[in-house]
Amino acid sequence: MPQRRSSEERPSVVGCFWTVLTVLGLALSGWLGQRLYQRVTQPTPTLVAAAPTPTATATAMPTAAPSPTPTATATPSPSPTPTATLTPTPTAVITATTTPAASVTPKVGGGPSAGVQVGRPWPTPDVSQAKDHYWVARVTGPGTQQWASPFYPYGSTGQGKYLLHQGVDIPNPLGTPLLAPAEGKVVFAGTDDQVALGPTTNFFGQAVVIELDRRYLDRPVYVLMGHMGEVYVRVGERVVRGLPVGEVGMTGIALGPHVHLEVRVGANDHRHTRNPEFWLQPLPGHGTLAGRVLTEEGLHLPGVEILLYPGPEFKAPRYYTWTYLDAPELINPDDQWGENFLMADVPAGLYMVEVKVGKRLLRQEVTIEAGRTAWIEVRATP
Ligand SMILES: [Zn+2]
Repeated sequence: MPQRRSSEERPSVVGCFWTVLTVLGLALSGWLGQRLYQRVTQPTPTLVAAAPTPTATATAMPTAAPSPTPTATATPSPSPTPTATLTPTPTAVITATTTPAASVTPKVGGGPSAGVQVGRPWPTPDVSQAKDHYWVARVTGPGTQQWASPFYPYGSTGQGKYLLHQGVDIPNPLGTPLLAPAEGKVVFAGTDDQVALGPTTNFFGQAVVIELDRRYLDRPVYVLMGHMGEVYVRVGERVVRGLPVGEVGMTGIALGPHVHLEVRVGANDHRHTRNPEFWLQPLPGHGTLAGRVLTEEGLHLPGVEILLYPGPEFKAPRYYTWTYLDAPELINPDDQWGENFLMADVPAGLYMVEVKVGKRLLRQEVTIEAGRTAWIEVRATP
């Protein structure tokens, strides 16, 4: 069970996110200012979330950092059928290129800010055999915030502020309709005050769990929506994609209005979660960057920061995330991909991925295509 922290999901969403954004900006500007990388000429990048171009919405998320690429409106919506047979980008194994030995460690990671932890042996399935499984539609409709908060991704604690996150959070105003993300059957609906749907009872408050009709590697797939206000459906009911199943609330341990989204594979319990953003169909014009950052021996490197610099200039980082924290069974990679980080809803285009492992700075160009998963693998022993 994750350690409960005093603040867990309780601080004001807006205040918390603004604080995080400010800290990120300050820490990164100081860090970059001391780096030797010659192409970095201005030390105050505007770091923004690993999130897509926001549409005009009234949400609790800070929208001060929109993507500059207006991709969301110019690209036709993808087919509603899941992309099942895409071949991943060939694995790029990054090798160390420079050791700038920056004297300031950026304190923006989801894990250790000084020193590097080494985790468990990480599964390394052959990703050339892996297929995308974007079976899950957005759970809120047009005109709402449809993307997950990048400040508190799957496998993180939001820089130590919250509980280990086994899903993602999508903030929207109270009462925003929540939609079934795929065809399936309701297997849980209502309060979790009697049944521990998460780590404890009264965790998700009002929740709905849908077992999808489709199975993954012959195992059932569940989508959980938590902290709901109203719940419209009952156990046993069949749902189709887009059917309203309830409303955004702030029940359970949430104090800010949002929906907590989980995907569980194999069993409907909190030890079978996967990164839900690996299941959410990318927004139009956006794709996914996934990969793993391991030691040369294949050990997990938790809490390592991943920065993404838009091309072709690669002047300043614009998106970021961290590798998953090391929590066996609680945080799990995809069975076919074996990722330990994922950045969802990135505008399609050319990027430079930058990973800092200890004092080693590793960089690799990657092209992110709309509707697909781009993959990189980094091996570096700190
Ligand atoms: Zn959550």
